[in-house]
Amino acid sequence: MSELKALLPDGVVLDDVPSRYLVDETETRSRLGFADAVVLPVSVADVVTVMRFAYAQGIPLTPRGGGTGYAGGAVPQGGVVVGMERLNKVRHFDPLLWRMEVEAGVTTAHVRRIAQESGLLYPPDPGAGELSHIGGNIATNAGGPHAFKYGTTGTWVTGLECVVPPGELIKLGGSQRKDVAGYDLKHLLIGSEGTLGVITAAWLRLIPTPQCSVPLLALFAAEASGCEAVESLIGSGLDLAAIEFVDSVALECVPPPLGIRGESAFALLLQADGSESEVAATLADARDVMKEAQITHAAESRSEVERIWRWREGMTAGVTAQLGGKVSEDISVPIDYLGDAIQEARRIGRKHGLRACAWGHAGDGNLHATFMIRRDSPADIAAAEHAASDLFDMAIAFGGAISGEHGIGLEKAGVLERAWGPRAYALHGGVKSLFDPRDLLNPGKKR
Ligand SMILES: Cc1cc2nc3c(=O)[nH]c(=O)nc-3n(C[C@H](O)[C@H](O)[C@H](O)COP(=O)(O)OP(=O)(O)OC[C@H]3O[C@@H](n4cnc5c(N)ncnc54)[C@H](O)[C@@H]3O)c2cc1C
Repeated sequence: MSELKALLPDGVVLDDVPSRYLVDETETRSRLGFADAVVLPVSVADVVTVMRFAYAQGIPLTPRGGGTGYAGGAVPQGGVVVGMERLNKVRHFDPLLWRMEVEAGVTTAHVRRIAQESGLLYPPDPGAGELSHIGGNIATNAGGPHAFKYGTTGTWVTGLECVVPPGELIKLGGSQRKDVAGYDLKHLLIGSEGTLGVITAAWLRLIPTPQCSVPLLALFAAEASGCEAVESLIGSGLDLAAIEFVDSVALECVPPPLGIRGESAFALLLQADGSESEVAATLADARDVMKEAQITHAAESRSEVERIWRWREGMTAGVTAQLGGKVSEDISVPIDYLGDAIQEARRIGRKHGLRACAWGHAGDGNLHATFMIRRDSPADIAAAEHAASDLFDMAIAFGGAISGEHGIGLEKAGVLERAWGPRAYALHGGVKSLFDPRDLLNPGKKR
């Protein structure tokens, strides 16, 4: 890599390959990558230089954001890791025009904080916001609890700047809010998991922060009535910002917050936002709709709001703590299959000798179906991989998707064809070949 070092400013090519650049969140399922070099560009020109070099030499490139991905997308399989953390400038912030242009390495939480200081909201709220980058969020089209009302990351991107093979800078869209010219290349890059180009910057759309946001926790004695409530809440047309669920096994691992107890087999966490009167009316209507709920509790103070959401965000850690590891998937199903999918996930776990549970974004039919494993047990890891494969088949059979949030990465490699069928899958491959004819951008992923 000395040739590459000579082309870039001092310090951009690291002297060694720190192990943290070889993993992402799939480390808990023992996923470890390998690489020949780590490059941390300080300018867009550096990204162009790296890609031109890699393309000329036939060296694979793995773009990397905050490394919080759950699909192994940033786990390199040789070649050069391009870490985007030093490209972290806010290029423009126009609060009166509700928009911001940021470089790819700005964290999600930083974007949200800057917007918030001016009374604005950047709605996407994927759970690892202090670490994940906007570039990584765009590359995975990340969701989060509030995607139910506000949509996933891509909904908020009006423009992208990217470096595409063999090392050309392109701009797709910009600060304008509408653009229907040409094929929608911007949305091909959104969710492309670093396989089509390296995103260097993005224009983001913002909205005024709602005056008030209040979560409401509801506990149900039976899972079936909780799932029916989800359909009723949607059918009733209530303006809810989030509808999250936690199943009985996950509730055993992470009991409800605020000392709330009951015969709980299922929990829903709703969020209403808007003016104070709108929120009060929405939550009152939601309580009416959820007649079967054993207990409902709306947050009564700032601290309760935080404790309720901290409980929900603690699900991953609490479930992982049971045996030290977990294999968690992110299938999505049509809403009317939510209850069946939750039950089926636990049945699949039993079939493979694993304790299983599910939580996630009920309003979007998006389950974090999870198999608990001993992290150092090859037998558990193998059983969980088989269980995950059964889970994908279940999602496909229910007319759903094998990934609603985290993407394909390495973890689901090979499953997409099963889900999409040969013709659609061939078109998918054709898009990849058009952008990256030498298959050097994050090879082996998103397929
Ligand atoms: C506690 C926790 C909670 C989470 N909650 C959610 C959630 O609610 N919703 C959700 O969707 N996800 C969630 N995630 C998963 C993860 O945070 C998201 O997938 C996130 O978008 C990944 O961003 P990142 O910057 O960490 O990307 P990385 O993990 O570094 O990379 C992810 C993929 O994007 C590519 N990539 C990264 N940056 C670029 C770039 N600049 N250009 C091109 N490609 C790039 C990589 O090659 C890789 O394929 C959670 C993760 C954790 C640990």
